[in-house]
Amino acid sequence: MPNLLRGRLNSGVGHFFCSPLMFPYESNYVCHFFRLWGNLEAASRVAPKYSLLGNMQNDFDAKFGDVCGDANNRFFLIEFKRSRKGFSEEVSKPGGKIHRIALYEHLRLDATCRQIARQGHFGCYPSSSGSLVFEPYAHCPAAIKTKIQIVTEVLLKPAFASINELDHQAWECGFPKFYEQITDYDSTISDNFPGFFENGLGITSEHLKTYVSCMYDHLQTAVDPSGVAILGAFNRQANTFVAFNDTIENIFLRLQSAFNSSKEGATSLPGGPIGVQPGEA
Ligand SMILES: [Zn+2]
Repeated sequence: MPNLLRGRLNSGVGHFFCSPLMFPYESNYVCHFFRLWGNLEAASRVAPKYSLLGNMQNDFDAKFGDVCGDANNRFFLIEFKRSRKGFSEEVSKPGGKIHRIALYEHLRLDATCRQIARQGHFGCYPSSSGSLVFEPYAHCPAAIKTKIQIVTEVLLKPAFASINELDHQAWECGFPKFYEQITDYDSTISDNFPGFFENGLGITSEHLKTYVSCMYDHLQTAVDPSGVAILGAFNRQANTFVAFNDTIENIFLRLQSAFNSSKEGATSLPGGPIGVQPGEA
């Protein structure tokens, strides 16, 4: 039996579409994510009601990451990489993205932004078997260690050295768990952590705005020919500076209108036979 088929028969719904094949581009994983998401929506026989923006063809990519999502006003951002080590490369000098290095250094220091990031900004990469793995973005650069390694490290640490949460992996999960964490909970706000949802992953629109501002604060500045400083991000692959001639308010409004038009366009139920029925997997 070919490897691909065997993988499919032996695994649960989370690995339903996953093959041991590794894709060559990040965008392949983005498309894979959309396919898995659509599959679970179809399986639950609900009309597509959430708004997912793939940023391959808009200018949000360099600002926010590859995918922005809005599930009943529960917002999230996802950055895709071909491997987990891509995340540490992105925030390491030299060779990393300058604005991402700045954001990462900031998240190490700012507990509030770090908490927002942990709930709303995710990294996604393939496991060795090719299924998607999710982790909080800011924790992705941390080395994966065993509990014993972490305890030993903490015990051996000099008393004056502080421990940073971002030096450790927070959690990781596969696609079904991620989908459940985003879509299964109501929008009750936590008493203990005001501004955050009581359950599940994702952040409020207020926190999204805070976080987008935070990301915007860590973009680079270049000076245009007339001497005006402009914010943007340097794209190393294309060797170009992508300028954002926009205010944070405008960017946020455009993001919201993109979410809304995506919702308006997705009102019909998926038709035809559906492979996986609820409860069957
Ligand atoms: Zn911040």
